[in-house]
Amino acid sequence: MKKLRVFLACLASRLTRWGIRLLGRGGTSLPGKVALRICPDLLSVLGRGVDTLILTGTNGKTTTAGMLRHMLDTAGTDYLSNRSGANLKSGITAEFIQNAAITGRMKKKLAVIECDEGNFPAVVEALQPRVIVVTNLFRDQLDRYGEVSHTREYLYQGIRKAPAATVCLNADCSLTASLGWDVPNEVVYYGVDGVSSDAEPNVSDAPHCLACGERYAYRRHTFAHLGDWYCPGCGRSRPAPAVAAESVEPVPGAGSRIVLRTPEGERTVELALPALYNVYNALSALSAARAMGWDTDACAESLRDFGAVFGRMESMKIGDTPVQVVLVKNPAGCDRVLEYLASLGEDVFPVFCLNDNVNDGTDVSWIWDADYEALFAKRAYESIGVWGIRAEDMRLRLKYAGAEDASIRVFATLDELADAVARAGKPAVVLPNYTAMLTVRDKLSTLAGKSRFWE
Ligand SMILES: [Zn+2]
Repeated sequence: MKKLRVFLACLASRLTRWGIRLLGRGGTSLPGKVALRICPDLLSVLGRGVDTLILTGTNGKTTTAGMLRHMLDTAGTDYLSNRSGANLKSGITAEFIQNAAITGRMKKKLAVIECDEGNFPAVVEALQPRVIVVTNLFRDQLDRYGEVSHTREYLYQGIRKAPAATVCLNADCSLTASLGWDVPNEVVYYGVDGVSSDAEPNVSDAPHCLACGERYAYRRHTFAHLGDWYCPGCGRSRPAPAVAAESVEPVPGAGSRIVLRTPEGERTVELALPALYNVYNALSALSAARAMGWDTDACAESLRDFGAVFGRMESMKIGDTPVQVVLVKNPAGCDRVLEYLASLGEDVFPVFCLNDNVNDGTDVSWIWDADYEALFAKRAYESIGVWGIRAEDMRLRLKYAGAEDASIRVFATLDELADAVARAGKPAVVLPNYTAMLTVRDKLSTLAGKSRFWE
């Protein structure tokens, strides 16, 4: 009876997927929903015997999961993994079905799963992961789960549903670190030791001690509410990280050089992505990899060329305006760049450029597979620029993704684009596809002249 139910659920999910394809639609959670309707515990049935790593948190899930996939790809290891758009229980179930025979027998023995915070308890209960990673906890602008403390409660409940799992937690985020206070799990903390910002910590997401209500103080801080926090009231403080960035050195044009300390020793990690939040992502990924028992040295080494999937990023200055040009050419890379864009806040001027020349692949319909919705769910820009041969398609895509139509400016010429960037009065982030990048970069870097620099 059980076997029949599993079979019917897998079959129905497949038929639903084919049906959706025939209708020319994509990116829906319907196949998973249909399967769960037929067999409510399908995910736990399929997940049995699969070595699973689950990551969650407010920011950095996609990048961290990308790093973990890159580690496995580099090692030639077979695995299954969902993408950020499918991180609810239904989407995760659909991913497992995709990698199973119709009888429910799994074809893959390893899974890297990104999970939405609200779905975390149910997914953890079903999959019984070996390792759980929490990247951080921030207040989301459109937080579906209310206050960030509610989100923390979801994660806490989830962790308690898998007492055998090793939990990797960000020591620098007081909210995340507190998840390890009274759980039966083995807990591994990671954090950044060697960076200290001069700016005042912005603790608005996590101002008060969860144990006694006293306002947290900081010995050192990295960004937002992250850093070496402690509670003057009850004495609770940032746990000493077992996996730590001893030092972080920006490498112009390349990313960051990190001296990584683990209980096994010290090693240098060349990270091909810029910015400190990517150092945190690398630490999340490396502590998870280590907890899974993967070869930490090889995993660390693989981060050297992880930036390749991010696309090229170039920084320059036009007058006083910082300008970044980031290549986007496929949905996966685009999603990563959009996540980066969202992380910058709203005070930037984004410019989306789309050509359909031969070198771009003349089919630009991939923009409908990229998750622009995720960006506009978090950010509303005062002004958005659009340029390129397919500017109208781009405008339409952004509009459907939730961009305010009145905020979108379509530039007829490259001069108009360059002029708008120069007068933006705020940092501009230009996201062109391949041939658009060639002309846009040429134009902007000419204007930037001597002040051009790599970052
Ligand atoms: Zn306290």
